[in-house]
Amino acid sequence: MTLSRRQLLSGAAGAAMAATALSHSRIATAKGTQASGPLPGVVRRRIGDIQVTALLDGYMEMPAGLFSAPKAEAERLKKLAFKSSQPNLSPVNAFLLTVGDRLILIDSGAANSFGPTLGRLPQALAANGIGVEQIDAVLLTHMHPDHIAGTIDASGQAVFPNAEMILPEADFRYWHDDGAMAGAPNAFKPFFSGARQAVKAYRGRTTQISGEKEVMAGVRALPLHGHTPGHTGYLVTSGDEALFIWADIIHNATFQLAHPEWGPTFDVDPAQAAKTRQRALDMAAADELMVAGMHLPFPAVGYIEARTEGFGYMTADWPYHL
Ligand SMILES: [Zn+2]
Repeated sequence: MTLSRRQLLSGAAGAAMAATALSHSRIATAKGTQASGPLPGVVRRRIGDIQVTALLDGYMEMPAGLFSAPKAEAERLKKLAFKSSQPNLSPVNAFLLTVGDRLILIDSGAANSFGPTLGRLPQALAANGIGVEQIDAVLLTHMHPDHIAGTIDASGQAVFPNAEMILPEADFRYWHDDGAMAGAPNAFKPFFSGARQAVKAYRGRTTQISGEKEVMAGVRALPLHGHTPGHTGYLVTSGDEALFIWADIIHNATFQLAHPEWGPTFDVDPAQAAKTRQRALDMAAADELMVAGMHLPFPAVGYIEARTEGFGYMTADWPYHL
């Protein structure tokens, strides 16, 4: 609806808006359109010539205890965020890059590895008009189930029949290390078998990367080790625009922006992860970088500001023009 200056001054605007709202509510009532499930989560934006599409795979609950967060401080932060009565939910996001005529998927969601509230990435892709056979490469930030499990189906077959799998070499080595698997807590042992199964499905079409380097035009790998040995972010740059896809630097924005030292129990190297988290947050704030995260509130793109204690997060505007 476009409002004229005359309408605004005369108050006719309010009447016009009310009429529109009324007609919408009539439609809803007449057809009984209460939602029976979430719509696919898909938001496109542009970074120069590269299109970046945020895709919502679903969400999971991560109790405060997972962050070894002192109860009183966790509750204080939740109250500040108007979340006192809510469970601690974290989304699982992936990002699709359209670089020229190539489609690059960064992470693949959790599929069925963490229960029924996840595994919606294929529907989000479909809502965006993209079929799984169109994906040219899956670029992984690390090999935890909520990032890699979506590359295979329930029978262990590749979901993306034409995609190359590009993954950090240090993660490949760690998740294939029998000694590391034997020493891991029982709850985390399936992470090893799942990661191995996914890689196996892409045998003959995987590429391992290491260090800081350009993995394709406009996409630079930035090692962010600690959460896992090969945990990697990707800096997407085109023209004078940039987006820092920092993967799992943050799992719970309410807690960890205020306390970057709070890591989840599944950080492989908690001390290194905390240092890396602080460094990534410092860099994002100092360089005024637009950031995107796999567990930031969907559509998961925003800015970081340094505060006296910890950091603040500002959601980027909805990309109205795309
Ligand atoms: Zn994750």
